[in-house]
Amino acid sequence: MGIEVARAQGCRIIDGDGREYLDLISGIGVASLGHAHPAVVEAVKDQVDRYLHTMVYGEYIQEPQVRLAEKLAQVAPHPLSVTYFTNSGAEAVEGALKTARKYTGRSRFVSFLGSFHGDTFGALSVGGNPVYRAPFEPLLPTVTFLPFDDFEALATIDETVAAVIIEPIQGEGGVRIPNSGFLARLRQRCDEVGALLIFDEVITGFGRTGRLFACAHWSVVPDILVLAKALGGGLPLGAFVSTPEIMEILTHDPPLAHVTTFGGHPVSCAAGLASLEVILSERLPQRAQAQGEDFVQQLRALRGQGGFTAVRGRGLLIGMEFSSSEATKSFVQHCFTAGVILGWTLHRDTVVRLAPPLIISPEEIDHALTVMQEALQKTGT
Ligand code: PLP
Repeated sequence: MGIEVARAQGCRIIDGDGREYLDLISGIGVASLGHAHPAVVEAVKDQVDRYLHTMVYGEYIQEPQVRLAEKLAQVAPHPLSVTYFTNSGAEAVEGALKTARKYTGRSRFVSFLGSFHGDTFGALSVGGNPVYRAPFEPLLPTVTFLPFDDFEALATIDETVAAVIIEPIQGEGGVRIPNSGFLARLRQRCDEVGALLIFDEVITGFGRTGRLFACAHWSVVPDILVLAKALGGGLPLGAFVSTPEIMEILTHDPPLAHVTTFGGHPVSCAAGLASLEVILSERLPQRAQAQGEDFVQQLRALRGQGGFTAVRGRGLLIGMEFSSSEATKSFVQHCFTAGVILGWTLHRDTVVRLAPPLIISPEEIDHALTVMQEALQKTGT
């Protein structure tokens, strides 16, 4: 898009010429409180005045890390109460995969076609798009990909599997929501064969889908929860969260086997805690649920124009399906020209993704809908 960002505030990004854009993608699901939320800015300033980096993660007791980990233990699904902080989502996926291997003593992983888990070697190895894996092979050799939302395929998960990794709602894969019962059946199959279940909630976490974590939609609790993006309130931060029993495996043989210098940076943790407190106190998941239902309903009325064929979503994670990649591109471009920023998805070029800040107002949604309607008319059929 090439915007030269001068400032960003709330749901707006302002470029060097003073032009304002309405941001419906939040830096790909990061700015859930909007840009530069005062509570986050204040927490960052306070922490910057106290200390920055003091030691590699885990050596010293750093209050912002402890407080955020305590808060996560309160709000994560029981019994997930131990957090290991990282710099990013991909690094958290690496930690989750390593933990599962060591805990189970098994080597295989199962993932799903269309999934995205990040671009480091391990995370890419479990990424469900062969086009993105191919240039970097050989990757981890022991990964099996199953079709997403296919109940029968789950029977192939067996006693050789260390872990199954899945996004409860696929983001980059085109905002794909599984049928009710799929994740519960997957949980059951993992229990039957002793495989760990890893939920990658990097994009779905922190209220985006109308629940604090998307797994609550289906009342399914994973063994390891992977978090990033909105976790840091706009600063780089990732985490994997699990049970005391599973996380204990990382403490010995060898100790310090998942070192990260900057993981859980105190400024990121201070920002993340401030952000999480606002998300909880302002009941943003509930707000996202109500706003999202409204948004989807209004978008549904626009189907049939400009190649726009279908819409689906949970909370404020919404996917608009188009009949061709040309129509998708044209629609996104027309909206951009009119000052509305939409997302696309890496692996489905016929889906436009919306992930606006959870604080978006009804008036801003109305404005976005007007722009989208005009863009669809310009896009043609
Ligand atoms: N997992 C999911 C579901 C993601 O959407 C992403 C990034 O888009 C990642 C993992 C990787 O996170 P990061 O870019 O912080 O490494």
